[in-house]
Amino acid sequence: MYIELIKYTPEPEKTVAIAARVCYSPRNAKEIYENMSDEEVKKLIRFLIKAGHHSAIEHASFTFIVDGISRVCSHQLVRHRLASYSQQSQRYVEYKRNLEYVIPQSIKNKKDLSQKFEEFQQQSFNLYKYFLKNKISSEDARYVLSNAFPTQIIITMNARELLHLFTLRCCERAQWEIREMAYRMLNKVKKVAPTIFEHAGPSCFKGICSEGEMMCKNPPKEDEILEKYLS
Ligand SMILES: Cc1cc2nc3c(=O)[nH]c(=O)nc-3n(C[C@H](O)[C@H](O)[C@H](O)COP(=O)(O)OP(=O)(O)OC[C@H]3O[C@@H](n4cnc5c(N)ncnc54)[C@H](O)[C@@H]3O)c2cc1C
Repeated sequence: MYIELIKYTPEPEKTVAIAARVCYSPRNAKEIYENMSDEEVKKLIRFLIKAGHHSAIEHASFTFIVDGISRVCSHQLVRHRLASYSQQSQRYVEYKRNLEYVIPQSIKNKKDLSQKFEEFQQQSFNLYKYFLKNKISSEDARYVLSNAFPTQIIITMNARELLHLFTLRCCERAQWEIREMAYRMLNKVKKVAPTIFEHAGPSCFKGICSEGEMMCKNPPKEDEILEKYLS
């Protein structure tokens, strides 16, 4: 999968901090903006997150290109409603590239099964091409494509929704593909808004698991898992 953070609110942390400060300060917003130090920004953001005053965090938005995830993954992703998505259409776009697909490691590890998987993808892709050749529209031909088929999607999410996404989808209970996507996104935003995202991730990063009986046996170590998905 390919993930790139292409745009984000300039000075995302300062933007959030000013929005929060305006609520409680008699000074005007411009004056606050011009006088707020980096230390003050950090302190205020830490306070907001700890206290649960998350609405000010919505002022920072982030736009990603996500390419090469499966339709399984994109279906899970778009369940997160407080975001904007633009996904390459299988109705209007005839797939012209060679066959590509996402293969789960569990199948890839077994040679005979991965061969069957590949044959199936090839068959469905051949049928798709055959339908197109016989004047079936892309929107109908696509019914034979598998869930493993790759897609690309542009996502814009504000920091509050991203924090929520990272809590749910970086968790070991989330499926491996969306988990990998979430960690790669987290690594990108940590670089540009380190204070907002300093404790982002599954609830176990904060020392408590919210999964109860469904708790995983091996909670990830924060540094190691972020390192794993760095690229
Ligand atoms: C491990 C895991 C397993 C899952 N398994 C399944 C499954 O088996 N079947 C299934 O259907 N889904 C499943 N899901 C998807 C899950 O149910 C949610 O749809 C998805 O995680 C989006 O989360 P959300 O609704 O909290 O958040 P978002 O849509 O990201 O919204 C963020 C928050 O905004 C608020 N909000 C958003 N919309 C509304 C609204 N209409 N009314 C009130 N408040 C709102 C809520 O507080 C919500 O938490 C699974 C998710 C995970 C992480």
